[in-house]
Amino acid sequence: MSTAEFEPGYFGQFGGSFVPPELKEVLDYLAEQFEKYKDDPEFKQEYLYYLKEYVGRENPLTYARNLTEKCNGAKIYLKREDLNHTGAHKINNVIGQILLAKRMGAKRVIAETGAGQHGVATATACAMFGMDCTIYMGAEDTKRQALNVFRMELLGAKVVPVSKGQGRLKDAVDEALGDLVQNYRNTFYLLGSAVGPHPFPTMVKHFQAIISEESKRQILEKEGRLPDAVIACVGGGSNAIGAFAHYIEEACVRLIGVEPDQAATLTKGVPAVIHGFKCLVLLDEEGNPQPTYSIAAGLDYPGIGPEHSYLKETGRAEYYTVTNEEVLEAFQILSKTEGIIPALESSHAVAYALKLAPTMNRDQILIVNLSGRGDKDVEQVFQMLK
Ligand SMILES: *Cc1c(COP(=O)(O)O)cnc(C)c1O
Repeated sequence: MSTAEFEPGYFGQFGGSFVPPELKEVLDYLAEQFEKYKDDPEFKQEYLYYLKEYVGRENPLTYARNLTEKCNGAKIYLKREDLNHTGAHKINNVIGQILLAKRMGAKRVIAETGAGQHGVATATACAMFGMDCTIYMGAEDTKRQALNVFRMELLGAKVVPVSKGQGRLKDAVDEALGDLVQNYRNTFYLLGSAVGPHPFPTMVKHFQAIISEESKRQILEKEGRLPDAVIACVGGGSNAIGAFAHYIEEACVRLIGVEPDQAATLTKGVPAVIHGFKCLVLLDEEGNPQPTYSIAAGLDYPGIGPEHSYLKETGRAEYYTVTNEEVLEAFQILSKTEGIIPALESSHAVAYALKLAPTMNRDQILIVNLSGRGDKDVEQVFQMLK
């Protein structure tokens, strides 16, 4: 069933908006404004302008010749989100939402961040668009990610450490939502992944769908046909849903999401409501969200976007896990064979491609979404390999 047949914000049983009435009102208004502008030709033109002139799109779909030969199977193409300004796909969504914020008359942008990557992307765009920027970050996370805190401050943002609760991402989200309810008249909450209550998952998909809009055009130009599979890593699910979007209706294309085996939300999760929406969640025996762990900070989240939950339930997309060892191996293999150092998050997708490609024929095609570059991870990998 196509998601167009569901109520707005629902993907089968997943999604929705389970929030207090005062927040519901703010989010309903946001949904209405998003609907109003998303297909507006002027809005679209401005979004594409900044993607080209600031982000550096379209980025290439690179044929990974050496990796293909090494695997001796399917032809492997890499969608190069790592080449975007700020080094990952997150900026696509940030540009889209900030343009919507401007249309809505907001002067102030707030965001949550865990490892700091979404905070940095948001602070970057706020600097360029002259927006006042406040980033909420768990106090624990500000200590572990001191360099990203400095980056955000360098870009002119105010970073607010949140010590309530466990001082982690969830507490930062709660604080940001509280701020939004207080200040919604001049403030826009810029959410970083395809998660949260409606309209965020729909909105984030809309702005990340540029990934598959481009890759589909590029693969048709290069190969004259669609790929056999598209592979992406899954944290909250934004790069994956963007990489899948334009292939969902193409039944012949396999859609494959890859998770860390210690944050296997889609592989082992059960339906539950967290952070204001329903999705597959990893729960402990008492029914509380289970703490997750990933060597890739961007994949460390106990929930998952509602549309991925639906794609998993219906079988349209497949989700697999890889181990830390496989991820570290993939990180090094891509660096050595292609001269491309992938983010640890993206290395999950590469790791699964390394398993899948050898089982396929030489005339088959794989697209791996390289969600980000690995410069940020080099020191961590150095410590782990030592
Ligand atoms: C944040 C991040 C991710 C995970 O987020 P998604 O919303 O699942 O895409 C993946 N890769 C990189 C490089 C990231 O920065």
